[in-house]
Formats: sequence, C-alpha cells, structure tokens
Amino acid sequence: MTVVEHLEYIKEQTIRMNAYRFAQNIISWDSAAGGAPKSGIDKKSQYAGILAGESFKIMTEEKFMNSVKEAFNSLDAIDSIEDRAMVREWNRTIERMSKIPEKEYTEFVELVSKTEVIWEEAKQKSDFNMFVPYYESIFSYLKKFAEYYGYKEHPYDALIEDFEPGMTVKELDKFFGELRAEIVPLLKDIKAKQLIDNENIDFINREVSKEKQKNLGEFLLNTIRYDKEKGMVAESEHPFTNGVSFNDVRITTNYDLNNFTASFYSLAHEGGHGIYEQNQSEELEDKGLRDGASAGIHESQSRMYENMFCRSNEFWSFMYPKLNEYTNDAFLDIPLNTFLKGINHVDTSFIRVEADELTYPLHIMIRYEIEKAIMEGALDSKDLSKVWNEKMKEYLGIEPKNDAEGVLQDVHWAAGLFGYFPSYALGNAFAAQFVYYMKKDFDVSADLEKGDFSRINQWLKNKIHQFGKVYLPMELIEKATGEKFNPSYYIKYLKEKYSSI
Ligand code: ZN
Repeated sequence: MTVVEHLEYIKEQTIRMNAYRFAQNIISWDSAAGGAPKSGIDKKSQYAGILAGESFKIMTEEKFMNSVKEAFNSLDAIDSIEDRAMVREWNRTIERMSKIPEKEYTEFVELVSKTEVIWEEAKQKSDFNMFVPYYESIFSYLKKFAEYYGYKEHPYDALIEDFEPGMTVKELDKFFGELRAEIVPLLKDIKAKQLIDNENIDFINREVSKEKQKNLGEFLLNTIRYDKEKGMVAESEHPFTNGVSFNDVRITTNYDLNNFTASFYSLAHEGGHGIYEQNQSEELEDKGLRDGASAGIHESQSRMYENMFCRSNEFWSFMYPKLNEYTNDAFLDIPLNTFLKGINHVDTSFIRVEADELTYPLHIMIRYEIEKAIMEGALDSKDLSKVWNEKMKEYLGIEPKNDAEGVLQDVHWAAGLFGYFPSYALGNAFAAQFVYYMKKDFDVSADLEKGDFSRINQWLKNKIHQFGKVYLPMELIEKATGEKFNPSYYIKYLKEKYSSI
C-alpha cells in the first residue's frame, strides 16, 4: 500500500470508530441529562461496554496498526498538516497502549472499577484507613506503568503525558513554585483585608426563580455566542459539555434557587468549552482531531469565559443592568462595586470544586505535590491523610476536620487518574497568557463593556479553536502567542485582579 492508501484506510477506520463514539456520547448524554430511567442502567452499561469493545477492536486490528506505523514512518512525506497530526495521534495512542502488558492492563481496569465503589463507601464513612490498601495497589500499578511507558527525567512525566503532552515535572515545579511564592502570601493579605472590610455579600443568596435564571442564562449564552443552532442546553447534577459530533456540541447546567451564580457561571464555563468545540474545523472530525489540544487547553477556554471575561468589572458594567432586568430588579439596591466583591469573594474552603478563582490553584498544587512524591517513592499511602492536612494548613491556613472533606474528596485517584490534576491549574495559566496577547491585538475591555464577544471569539477561533488537536498543546501556545508557555501572565493577572477588588 502507498502512503496515500494508508492514510485513506486510517481515515475510513477513524470514521467507523467515530460512529461508535457518537453512540457512546448519546448514551452518556441520555443518562446524565436526558432523563433516562435508572431501571435501564444494567443494559445500558452492557451495551456501552460492547460499543467500546467494538471500537477497541478496530484500533487494534493488525491492518490498522500497520497502516499507522507505515504512515508514521513516512511522516515527512505527508503534505497535509492535518493528516500528519492524525497519524501522530494514532501512533501515540497505539504505542502507549502496546507498552502495557495486556494482563496487567486488564487487572488494573478491574481493580479500578472495584475501587471506585469502595472509595464512595470510604468517603461516606470518612474512613481513610479503609482505603489505604487500595491506594497502595493503584499506585503500585501506576508506578509500573510509568516504567513501561518510559520517561526522560521523572516517572511522573510518563503519566502527565496522557493529559498534557509535552508537559513535565521540571516545568510544573517552576509553575507551582511561582504560584506558591506569590499566591500564598497574597491570599493571606486578601483574607485580612476582607476581614476589615466585613462587606455583607449575602445578597448572592437572594432567591431567583428557575424560570428567571433560565432566561438570564439564555441571554448570557447569546452574549458570549454559544451557538444554540449547533448545540443544546439541558440540566444535569454536575454540569458538563458533550461534543456529540461536529455541529452538535451540548452543554448542561443546574439551578440553585438561592444562588443564581451556580447556573450563571456553569453556563459561562461550559459555554466556553462548547464554543471551543463549535469553532473547530469540520474536516477534523473524520481525522480524529476534534475535541481539544489537551485537557489543559480545553480548560483554558472554559476558565477564560467563566473567570477572565464573565467575572470582570468590564463585563459587569454591561451585564449588571441586564441582571436586574432578568430578575425583576432583585439586586437593584446593591451597588455594582459591592456586587463585584460578592462574585469575586475569596474564601478558603476544603472542597476543590467549590473553590474560588484564587484558592483553586492551591488546591491543585497540594494534589500535584502528593502525586509527584508518590511517583518518586517518597510518600507512603498510609501517610496521605497526614500530609494532605499539613499542606492544607500551610497553603490555605485551614485543616480538614475529617478525610471526607480532605484526602478522600476526589474520585480521581480511586479511578486511577494520576497526572490529570495539573491540567486544571494549567488551564487558568494558559488562559491568562492567551488573554494577555489578545489584549495586545485589540481593546478586549472595550468589547466586554459592550457585551460584544464577536472579536474575542474570532481571535480565539483563528489562534486556537479551529486547530482542534492538530498542534500539540505546547506548540499551540507558542503559535498563538509567539512565546512558550509562561506562567508569569497568570500570576500577574491574579495579583492585578485581587489588588483592585
Ligand atoms: Zn471544565
């Protein structure tokens, strides 16, 4: 077969796998947001498993793997940059997969499906000791996998690669080191200032009916230009985005009658994810390049809309009258300045997913330091709870009362996900770098004051969105901003923002 024929074959098979993925996406949408009855869950799981298996069969067919290998060996001879990316991505997936002995991989999948259930019980009982042996076995598999994958400098690098290709411990140490040095003291200052101010921000909890929140949310999505013709909005317990296929990118939210910001900001967040996928080029889907360059790049888009745009003073000078219009003047007696303090209030809390914009990266830093120490063999599972609490005390100044609100709070480790957490913090830092350069190209603040997102979205489409997975995340950042990833923009952004509130 010629290279052209190999490429054709890879594309044909990618489309077949996409079809299975489409069906899986619809199934997961149906159960999380489509109101599927719980009684159907057993069959649903069985059928979803079969679909995943069919897709896996296509990927591991000898002919397919051979075509990927042949095409990869002649990568330089392929003209189209998308075709090269398609081959690069498949080659990476297949190579990583083939490095883990099948028996160990199956054992690990079985272990993890068991531990997720046990973790739920341990969390409910806040019983850390009950989960220690499971941590131990999960971590010992992950350490073995890192050796199988291989790495240049640090075993943790081998796992980070799954979520943030090209990112390493060396870079992350620098990133979190700067955060630690700048944010920990800044947080102390802000807490002290808030204490003196003693501003009453209870108005955030004023009741706003679901109907009103829905209309407000629709106005927000129209403003940021999430395209409802190519997606839909539904309700789910935890908000998420499901890019079912090209031109069908769905998002969800949930409503809290006594906190309208829950739906408002989850829509801004998921809307950001959604706009990213809606702006990707059509031809990427058939080449398996839709989605996003990495977990961190995807998160950079959602965080940008949620925090950097929709929590900014400029945006609220446009949005505040609209908020009152949509809520029957529920906040008319609150000066805009006080309102801004309310939506940007900093509060040290135990739970990562409830953390504000400033303390969030510190929650991630704790997880990063622990994961790294485990991979180095410098930390024993039995000491996890103790170390967790010490770090909470050191960085956030608070100590969890129990392990349910401490080390047991996230499902990630129980699910065998190691190396994922850094992407959550990196997303914010990528976003700050993008926005810094966007502001060099045009007056972003002026557009936000008008509630006009057309230039913002166009800039993001040109520089980031259209490319999907074509470029590796670190390449994309450099291409979009003319500079390698530089965490100082994020530190600068946080310092400026919180010293002005
Ligand atoms: Zn997100």
